[in-house]
Amino acid sequence: MINANLIVIGAGPAGYTVAAERANAGEKVILIDYAFPGGTCLNRGCIPTKCLAASAEVMLTASEAASFGISVGEVKVDYPAVVKRMETIVEGLRENVRSTIAPCKFVWGQARILPDGTVGIGDEVYSAPKVLIATGSRPAALPIPGEELTINSDGVLQLESLPASMAIIGAGVIGLEFASIMAAFGVEVTVIEYLKEVLPPFDKEVAKRLRTMLTRRGIKFILGAAVTSVSQESDSLKKVTYAGKNGDESVIAEQVVMAVGRRPVVPEGLAEAGIEVDRRGYIVTDNAMRTTRPGFYAVGDCNGKLQLAHAATAQAHVALGADVDLNAIPAAVFTYPEAAMVGLTTEQAEKSGIAFRSAKALYAANGKAQAAGQADGMLKILYAADTRRIIGCHIVGAHAADLIQEAATAIVANLTIDDLTVRTVHSHPTLSEIFTSIK
Ligand code: NAD
Repeated sequence: MINANLIVIGAGPAGYTVAAERANAGEKVILIDYAFPGGTCLNRGCIPTKCLAASAEVMLTASEAASFGISVGEVKVDYPAVVKRMETIVEGLRENVRSTIAPCKFVWGQARILPDGTVGIGDEVYSAPKVLIATGSRPAALPIPGEELTINSDGVLQLESLPASMAIIGAGVIGLEFASIMAAFGVEVTVIEYLKEVLPPFDKEVAKRLRTMLTRRGIKFILGAAVTSVSQESDSLKKVTYAGKNGDESVIAEQVVMAVGRRPVVPEGLAEAGIEVDRRGYIVTDNAMRTTRPGFYAVGDCNGKLQLAHAATAQAHVALGADVDLNAIPAAVFTYPEAAMVGLTTEQAEKSGIAFRSAKALYAANGKAQAAGQADGMLKILYAADTRRIIGCHIVGAHAADLIQEAATAIVANLTIDDLTVRTVHSHPTLSEIFTSIK
């Protein structure tokens, strides 16, 4: 048996970050994974998709070069080069992670929880007073006929060439990010969504505005449509059938992408060790990320609270005793343009019964946005009617994912709308001045 101060199962953004921090603080830390450290985020998620999104943005900017008075000739995508760039960046960051976790003992392998609360990998047994489970999630698939003809987010990242057309099932974060990227590269994209609006967790007004902007970029949306099957239409084309407003309808595309959420990945042996999971398979945890077995914590996608890399890292810090405000976690979708949110949506605020007001500002009134040719966008702030404290912020427009951070800080610091928009001076000319022009 090998003893340690802390065992971390899963070397994604939650696992490797706190494992390295505790090891640097002098603790003996065992970090376990059966895949490259970095998790979904680095290897199959956030980072590779942001590399593709960056190439897509260059493509769009180059296509609009003439409107800036710049002549660039024909704009073409060299997709193998786009993929190579993505792989080079991911490999470089993997190297960073490898050096970050150097102070830990990293063990390659599949960890299982043993009934006595130790952790087994192959024939070896590890023991520690604290075990952090950070095993993440994997793409979900609809159990429909022809599901095997579809690819998921992992599959999209492995494409070596661009299809002429792509049907995406699900208008969540993953569906919209790939729709935005692929449309920029000239792929004919159709998104089929079960609900009546895209991006379910976002403020409806922002989601609708983003959909309108993406529609203007040529992406086709079919809403209120439950996909029922996928079939092979010809050698190179597939047919996606859905129950829509007029009964059964279909979309034909070369590639079909399934983007209907993610399911938890958990180690073996949880039930025998007294660690409860809910009916969807997520590990049950309290607000301190404690599982139902003392000494065991579960953080990130595998506990089902919030499937975001930075939320996972924040939860891991909470599990190890840090003071982190988990009520103001920003979320962003890296479409072109971006959308981002923090705090309550209008719909949540209405439901909660809080007396609140909302104020808005348009990118069009911002000099920097106009100069950059990115004047289409909106910012909306919700604040309590009595205390004037900010309770939510929603942005759709250029650099929304960066701008939202100011509102996140304001919520954590209990600032009022006046603190943010009047007392705080914003430099000129910047997009951040949008906060000062709300009405
Ligand atoms: P999601 O839950 O965000 O969206 C899935 C969508 O599929 C929903 O809108 C749902 O209504 C729709 N859907 C389900 N069944 C359907 C059917 N039969 N027909 C048509 N539509 C159907 O899931 P996702 O987009 O796959 O993302 C998974 C997770 O990964 C999310 O929690 C997301 O927040 C996270 N993620 C975050 C980022 C980011 O922060 N930028 C990026 C990628 C993924």
